Amino acid sequence: FITLGIESSCDETSIAVVADGRQLMSDVISSQIALHTVFGGVVPELASRHHLQNINSVLDEALSEAGVTLDDVDLIGVTNGPGLIGAVVIGVATAKALSFAKDIPLVGVNHMHGHVSANYIQYPDLEPPFMALIVSGGHTNIVEVTDYNECKVLGGTRDDAVGEAYDKVARVIGLGYPGGPKVDKAAKDGNPEAVHFKRVYLEKDSLDFSFSGLKTAVLNYINTEKMAGREINVADVSASFQQAVLDVVVDKTMMAVRNMNKDRLVIAGGVAANSELRRELKEACHKEGIRLYAPEPVLCTDNGAMIAAAAYYKYKKEGADDLHLDAYADLSL
Ligand code: ATP
Ligand code: MG
Ligand code: FE
Repeated sequence: FITLGIESSCDETSIAVVADGRQLMSDVISSQIALHTVFGGVVPELASRHHLQNINSVLDEALSEAGVTLDDVDLIGVTNGPGLIGAVVIGVATAKALSFAKDIPLVGVNHMHGHVSANYIQYPDLEPPFMALIVSGGHTNIVEVTDYNECKVLGGTRDDAVGEAYDKVARVIGLGYPGGPKVDKAAKDGNPEAVHFKRVYLEKDSLDFSFSGLKTAVLNYINTEKMAGREINVADVSASFQQAVLDVVVDKTMMAVRNMNKDRLVIAGGVAANSELRRELKEACHKEGIRLYAPEPVLCTDNGAMIAAAAYYKYKKEGADDLHLDAYADLSL
């Protein structure tokens, strides 16, 4: 059973071919990083235009790499939210056109369920239920995944997402876009105790997060240092900021896993590619006898394969969507 997965919700145009919801046959990812770098972040209008320009060649490449044609495709899955609306629309319109022209069933996928589903590709035996930490450019959630494409949200951010905090801090310290991977790399040469940034835990036992104060604290620190004529040590600031984020993220995630009495933890979303987050969670899980599932970095950031996996299980349970399928900027978990 062959599923085509289409993803275009932000700055990656990606299409994958996946067999039986789990086996990767191809996963072509066309990143727009070079395009947006000069602007220091994603420009929505440019993103949509480039999705439109690239999506047909990404499709051709995905099919030929997998050694299949559209006649072999049994299901089309597409991200229909949440994301940049103009970008999501391109994927949805493409999926509908293919579905109509070739009479292939169509399923709309919630991008966040897609991120979690990247784990089904990486770990062929993994099945719900399990706990999940979803950390990406626009979302930060601790959830209990109760079934494929179903979850209970236990906590989330009250302001910035983790990835957003990384990206904003990267801009402030001059590392530029995309910030996450750059801060990750710079932090490796820095001292996480060089600058103390406050850890924000909110109310006792809360599984919610707040990262906007941290972004301001980094900005204030930079300004104070500059005013005093001191040089900024980018590696130290990166490491110190990262440690302030990860202390809270790891503590709260482990608290949730313990509270829910679960023995499996899945991580998902672009920030799940972070090397220090992976290292610390691995250590914490090992100590408490919890199995950690962490997809390889390329499956953490946006890709079509995760959408194909989510679509496969949604189709099995709920059947297909029709051509009225719409695109949404906001779509809750
Ligand atoms: P969402 O999935 O919430 O709609 P998105 O699709 O833009 O948002 P993703 O593609 O899942 O987000 O992830 C991109 C985010 O992950 C960016 O904020 C990026 O900085 C961050 N990121 C990627 N790699 C790393 C890393 N190694 N360390 C920290 N952050 C990272
Ligand atoms: Mg991206
Ligand atoms: Fe994403």
